[in-house]
Amino acid sequence: MTGEGFVFSEKPIEIESGAGATLTAADGTEYLDFGASYACTPLGHSPPAVVDAISEQAEDLLYVQGSYPVAARTALQEQLADVGPGDLSKVWLPNSGTEANEAALKFARSATGREKVVVAKRAFHGRTLGALSLTWKDEYRDPFGPLPHGVEFVPYGDAEALADAVDDETAAVFLEPIQGEGGVHPAGDSYLQTAREATEAAGAALVLDEIQTGLGRTGTMWACQSAGVVPDVLTAAKGVASGLPLGVTLCADWIAEGAGNHGSTFAGNPVVAAAAGATLTEIEAQSVPENAARVGEYLRTELRAAVDADDLPVREVRGEGLMIGIEVKRGSMRVLRDLALSEQVLALPAGRSVVRLLPPLTVDEGDADSVVASLVEVLS
Ligand SMILES: *Cc1c(COP(=O)(O)O)cnc(C)c1O
Repeated sequence: MTGEGFVFSEKPIEIESGAGATLTAADGTEYLDFGASYACTPLGHSPPAVVDAISEQAEDLLYVQGSYPVAARTALQEQLADVGPGDLSKVWLPNSGTEANEAALKFARSATGREKVVVAKRAFHGRTLGALSLTWKDEYRDPFGPLPHGVEFVPYGDAEALADAVDDETAAVFLEPIQGEGGVHPAGDSYLQTAREATEAAGAALVLDEIQTGLGRTGTMWACQSAGVVPDVLTAAKGVASGLPLGVTLCADWIAEGAGNHGSTFAGNPVVAAAAGATLTEIEAQSVPENAARVGEYLRTELRAAVDADDLPVREVRGEGLMIGIEVKRGSMRVLRDLALSEQVLALPAGRSVVRLLPPLTVDEGDADSVVASLVEVLS
């Protein structure tokens, strides 16, 4: 018998190794990775400091039950509380972004004793049943119902609609500071500020899902920092352990105190915690958020100039830092296929008409130039 994956939608390129922003296929072809790693490699592929931390921890201990403190996890909890916004000092470490949001949902309901959750249309918060109830797309939801109820969707970016929906029955508001999967739409600072004021007034939790926007991608360590907003719960995942499975649910004291009973066998695994500790240390040491801000700005400027100069079929270039959406006038999937097969540049879709760039945050202006040249080639 031969095994075959399902659920995975496989691309016709088998990847063998990676270093920095380069991925090498089994046939030796090198690809520039501006999306294949799904925001999971803030420092590039297999960064040496993280690989070393993983090897050292693996030699010492692969696993012990989470009830026993281990140095790698304790240190990571301190580091996360330290780099997190405001006073979010209580840390839960599940195994994925979905689980980080699933926990946030449970904690918020338990801490408030309320059921209602307000989320945005086009939101993506994950695919387990609780997190899926907060996710917008019918295609992801419909086959799996009934989903937990009590969820109300409001238009993203409409501050008045959000403030109207939040009341004294609301447990939480969940928001992405920039919607990723939904098409790379920034909320804007005043929207997040309204969300903060409305939840605070109602005694509800503000949960910011920074799974895609966090770790410096938008030019600050967390996207909420540029809006001056501190949530009650912040979730992270994707690149936090450089691609090893880790989620983070950072909580204010009042959430943690009322969180209720929760757990997970692999949560806070020592090897994964060591990878995350090294990743966070390097993000700060290498000024990764500053690099993302500078190179992202350069890339968007160059791209807009190329769109104008060559009259390319592009409606809009948007985003912050190195989270960039290019709304194209033809199908995004065709553009992505041509980019990969003729230009050896890997990127992502965000719906049918948006090409999404989520490169390692260590890319430079030279990498940006080659991506712009490749896009011009493919779109002309
Ligand atoms: C990827 C993502 C998730 C889900 O994370 P997984 O690790 O795939 O479970 C949730 N929210 C946002 C904003 C994401 O980008």
